[in-house]
Amino acid sequence: MEKKPESKESNSRFAPFPQSEPLPPQAAPGADGEDALGVLVVEDNSDIREMVTLLVSSMGYHTYSAATGKEALEQLRLYTPDIVLLDLMMPEMDGFEFCRAVQADPALTTPHIIITSAKDALEDKVKGLELGAADYLTKPFDFTELKARIRAGERIVRYQKMLKEQQVLLEQLAREDKLTGLCNRRHFEERAHEECLRAQRYERPLSLLLGDLDDFKQVNDRYGHACGDMVLRQVGQTLLLHCRSSDLVARYGGEEFAVLLFETEAEHAQKVAERLCAAIRTLSFSHPSGPFHITISFGVASLLLQRKQDLTTLLEEADKALYAAKHKGRNRVERGLDEPSPETTPAVPAEKT
Ligand SMILES: [Mg+2]
Repeated sequence: MEKKPESKESNSRFAPFPQSEPLPPQAAPGADGEDALGVLVVEDNSDIREMVTLLVSSMGYHTYSAATGKEALEQLRLYTPDIVLLDLMMPEMDGFEFCRAVQADPALTTPHIIITSAKDALEDKVKGLELGAADYLTKPFDFTELKARIRAGERIVRYQKMLKEQQVLLEQLAREDKLTGLCNRRHFEERAHEECLRAQRYERPLSLLLGDLDDFKQVNDRYGHACGDMVLRQVGQTLLLHCRSSDLVARYGGEEFAVLLFETEAEHAQKVAERLCAAIRTLSFSHPSGPFHITISFGVASLLLQRKQDLTTLLEEADKALYAAKHKGRNRVERGLDEPSPETTPAVPAEKT
């Protein structure tokens, strides 16, 4: 393989490195049980690159190396290392260009970049930091200092990761109903509103089910609230189990559930609701006083291309249908309006006489 051109940067502070010695494989995870971070060593001088790579590897990190900015970009895309030790003077693509390319690509997560360069002019340091680098170490550097800078970088990276994880968790909590684990009413309405607009714009079918457990108050009164909560959880899981993974299932209120069925017309939505009704009906709940059953009623509403509907009207129609299902004896499904309502038909203006 052709050897890459090397810069004339001094490496006088580095001890000679035996070329024949193979680089160790990827390091083991961190001692405290955390996954080891990845460190990419970008350096065109092969002696320095190998020495630094070995040092970093001995610190317990997964190591990657590149001889040019271009190679470094490829490694970044492939392995998403957390920390990059970046030389500035390199052939093909120098360190500054590498920083610019990382900033310009929204698909790339910016790593913690520590520039390691013989360039010690103030403007180079400022330029590097302005281009997204987090730290700057002038060559020749002491290994002890390099190690300390890497450890400091690791603390920042881990802190950022923790913040990101907490953010994801908070977003999930904001969407979720605590008791059932289904999505909550707020998230359901936000999503359903968007989906209504989308379905109308692209003339796609969309249906909404509103379900309400029949005589649920009696469950709480007879068996206690802890048992009532268990029923709600089990009903929620059963609805999830019998819907497609793409459907949106929510706890809409106390004992009310809502399901948004994508790409589903009224007739099929009714079948889905009947299937859900049957699944709830066959559930058996255990209690010291003996097993008991529960039923659910559903109202179905669907978008009709001929009519102007939004989420509010769809919810109203489903609610009316649910009311009708309750009125007709519960444990059943009723469908909302299937025909264009007369008030949305353009009225012919009366001729003035
Ligand atoms: Mg160089």
